[in-house]
Order: sequence, then C-alpha cells, then structure tokens
Amino acid sequence: MTAKLIDGTALAAEIRADVARQVEALVAKGMHKPGLATVLVGDDPASHRYVRSKRKACEEVGIESIHHELPADTPQEKIIELVRDLNADERVHGILVQLPLPSGNDEEAVLTTVSVDKDVDGFHPVNLGRLAQKGREPSFVPCTPAGCIELLKHAGAKLEGANAVVVGRSNIVGMPVSLLLVRENATVTICHSRTQDLPDVCRRADVLIAAIGRGEMIRGDWIKPGAYVIDVGIDHVEDPTKKKGYRLTGDVAFDEALEVAGAITPVPGGVGPMTIAMLLKSTLNAAQRASTG
Ligand code: NDP
Repeated sequence: MTAKLIDGTALAAEIRADVARQVEALVAKGMHKPGLATVLVGDDPASHRYVRSKRKACEEVGIESIHHELPADTPQEKIIELVRDLNADERVHGILVQLPLPSGNDEEAVLTTVSVDKDVDGFHPVNLGRLAQKGREPSFVPCTPAGCIELLKHAGAKLEGANAVVVGRSNIVGMPVSLLLVRENATVTICHSRTQDLPDVCRRADVLIAAIGRGEMIRGDWIKPGAYVIDVGIDHVEDPTKKKGYRLTGDVAFDEALEVAGAITPVPGGVGPMTIAMLLKSTLNAAQRASTG
C-alpha cells in the first residue's frame, strides 16, 4: 500500500484564503480589522523566526499585527503589565506570548494574565480546563492540536469510535490533541516516555499522532495497515550526505510508514503550516465575537 499524503500546505492555504475573505467582509461592514498582539521576550532565534512568520501571515490576510519586543532581562511584572494593557486594548483581539519565556519567568503566571477571551493560543488554564470538561466550551483551543484534527477530518478519517493513540503528553501538543480526540468520540490512549511496549500500543491505532520530538522513532512496522498518521515532530537527524550535516524529519520514519499507513502527513508540509493557519482563524473568531458583543 502507498499511503495518501495529507497536504497541510494546501489545506492551510485554503484556510488562510477563507480568513482573508472573512476579514475583508468584517472591514466592509465598518468594523475594525482583527488585531493580533505578539509579545516576544529575549533573543531566542527560533522564537524570533516563529513570531516573524506569524506576523507576516497576519499581514497577508489583513489582520493587524501589534508587536512588542522586550529584552531578556525584563522583570516578569513588566511582562504582566504589558499583557494587562493588551487585555484592555480594543484594537487587540488576540494575544500571543511566545514561549518559552527566558528562564526565571513563571510562564503560568504570565499565561493566566492573558484574558480568556483573547487567549488565541488556547494555553490559558481556564481554556485548557474547559477543554478537558464535558459540556464546557473553551474560548480557544491550542493551534497545533486544532490543526491535527482539521487534517484528519480533511483526509476523511472517521474519528468516532476510532482507536486513537497519541504519543506525547505535552501541554502544547500531546495532551490537548488527546482531549480534542475525546471530544470527537475517539477512544484515546496517551503514551509517553514510561509507556510499556509502545510499538504494540501504536499497532492498535486507527489514528496515530506522534508528538515526541525524536526523529523517525516510529517505525513502519509499528503502524496498523491503513491507519491515519499525523506526524507533529520537527526534528533534525544527522545526515553526513547533507551540507548542514543533518536533515529535517518528523517523529515517524516516513518512507517506511508510507508503505503501511492509509494516509500520512509529510514533514515539512504537514502539521507545521496548519499551526499558523489555525492561529489566524482563532484571531478572526475573537474579532467576530468582540464585534457581536
Ligand atoms: P515535549 O518535549 O514537550 O514532549 C514530548 C513528549 O514525548 C513527552 O510527553 C515525552 O514523555 C514523550 N516522549 C519522549 N521520549 C519518548 C519515548 N522514547 N517514548 C515515548 N514517549 C516519549 O515536546 P512537544 O510536545 O513540545 O513537541 C513534540 C514535537 O512536536 C517536537 O518535535 C516539536 O518540535 C514538534 N512541534 C511541532 C509543532 C508544529 O507546529 N508542527 C508545534 C509544536 C511542537 P514524558 O512526558 O514522559 O517526558
């Protein structure tokens, strides 16, 4: 079998185009553009790169990008003060505090300051708590996990009643994607570094989500024939044939998985592009909600 490729780049482009159309419609009705505030503390090059691409994506769909950059030694109270100002700013519909914050900061203290209604990243404990509760609706859900679910639905996966296995239990990917799968009525197994017989657990998965951070750890013979495989990992594995000495891979041994899975996301071009697309969608939703009071 050769698995169907789930094209995250194409789906993300569709979502972005749809967001752009809806932003235009809001503005045509005389409403203010949606605004996304980004707060970037310190000099971490990867964080700077991520925030740059989020800001560029905003501009491309007509969302106003309001950017704040603070030096690494900014006292935490100053960061919190800035977040409070952004909570009160009517131009700002979504607030994104880029993680990780420089060491010494209490991330939870900062994240809980973000207004629940502007928490487009979905990391506020109230939103995560609601996600975990039956009958409660979070204002926002984390973007990468939301992107995984969109990809599965787009690929035609039947989630209701499916055996879903998530490898990874982080706050930003593994745990929230597991909770979203439960909401879709899948039967979910959450795996982590202490899981016994991981290959066996994975082999039972109709839907397998890998969010580990270990290049090509999931081998082809861990995959149930016909399974839907979502590879969240962005990893570097040594490769002396490459100029840089490494190559970019996911957590799944892609070439092997391609022979067994029913459908699979590539890395790059799978989950990655969906994260920003979902962030834009959440910011638009926040602005639409604010405009209807
Ligand atoms: P974390 O390091 O926070 O979590 C990794 C998880 O994998 C942990 O729960 C850990 O278990 C588990 N794990 C580690 N080793 C093993 C093992 N040998 N067997 C089973 N489980 C294991 O990572 P993130 O969730 O932040 O990220 C995961 C990957 O996804 C990374 O490659 C990251 O770059 C990528 N990513 C991609 C995004 C995108 O937009 N495409 C966005 C965010 C992340 P334990 O809890 O026991 O330690």
